[in-house]
Amino acid sequence: MTKIRDCIMSIKPYTPGKPIEEVEREYGLAEVIKMASNESPLGPSPKAIEALREAAAKVHIYPDGRCYYLKQELEKYLDIEEKNIIVGNGSDEIIKLLAETYLNPGDEVIMANPSFSEYAFAAQLMGAKIVEVPVNEDYTHDLAAMAKAVTEKTKIVFICNPNNPTGTLVTKEEVGRFLKTVPDEVIVVLDEAYAEYVEDQNYPDSIEYVKNEENVVVLRTFSKIYGLAGLRAGYGIAREDIINLLNRVREPFNVNSMAQCAAIAGLKDKEHLEASFSLNSEGKRFLYDRFKEMGLSYVPTEANFIFVDLAADCREVFTAMLKKGVIVRTGDIFGYPTFIRVTIGTVDQNERFIATLKEVLDK
Ligand SMILES: *Cc1c(COP(=O)(O)O)cnc(C)c1O
Repeated sequence: MTKIRDCIMSIKPYTPGKPIEEVEREYGLAEVIKMASNESPLGPSPKAIEALREAAAKVHIYPDGRCYYLKQELEKYLDIEEKNIIVGNGSDEIIKLLAETYLNPGDEVIMANPSFSEYAFAAQLMGAKIVEVPVNEDYTHDLAAMAKAVTEKTKIVFICNPNNPTGTLVTKEEVGRFLKTVPDEVIVVLDEAYAEYVEDQNYPDSIEYVKNEENVVVLRTFSKIYGLAGLRAGYGIAREDIINLLNRVREPFNVNSMAQCAAIAGLKDKEHLEASFSLNSEGKRFLYDRFKEMGLSYVPTEANFIFVDLAADCREVFTAMLKKGVIVRTGDIFGYPTFIRVTIGTVDQNERFIATLKEVLDK
């Protein structure tokens, strides 16, 4: 056997949400719904689908390695210059690029617990140490404790805003204070995968931090509200010097041509964005009301999923719901064995989810 790098065995393999086809196959079901991976229930913009049809005929040509046209569109949309943008094969790739660019073995990375597992994965891949700071009682990031956790070895702090899996956010004021406390050498990553769903007016306008030359990297994605998770496109916004460094590490053709075309079309379709936002907002209120009727406590969300306490073993509920064709995410993987995380769906999906949950909990 060939000896592997020391850090490899510390990596905990990612547990993805169960694919629909797999559940249909295993349980002999027909109409399975997946409310497990925070995908958009409305799907992509029809304009993105149209763009994909056209792009399909040209897949024999390598993609534009600079993502020129997509960055042009983002420039307008974000009101920031192209030199401050990097596009990735999902924002997951940018998390990995950050780790590959900055982390040496023994360096420290700070994140909340529970939060998005990709941060730990990327850190461990580079042999860095992951320092997890428990969230507050209201499931928000404990930024004061995270600031205190910074040492001379700290390179990156990940703030997931809104946080996956809790749906909570940190405010403009809190982030501003945090940035003042943390030493300039530390990179603060604001992962805003769910930014477009946020309703709270106190959400930071983090592009401003980049414009003010802060040591900040903002992450966004086309996988969530834009409904393009299967294509893999996300982007980072940062100071030019940071973008240049990440570009050294990036593969030359990291974002495929179909993803670039669909992302451009998706960005232009404001109507679809608004429809996706409204559907989520209404679905959120519907689910809150049902949870209240059922006496279940939930964490109010600023994203497209809800972290809800079932006061029951989440794995048992998960399996029972799976047999009835509803896939959700269990809380045990985040350290909350009585919770599930459910993605807000269409009206029909939300109703079916509640009916199924009631059946299962009544047993
Ligand atoms: C879904 C998600 C992402 C996006 O991942 P992609 O690689 O862009 O699909 C990033 N961060 C968080 C917190 C997420 O939940």
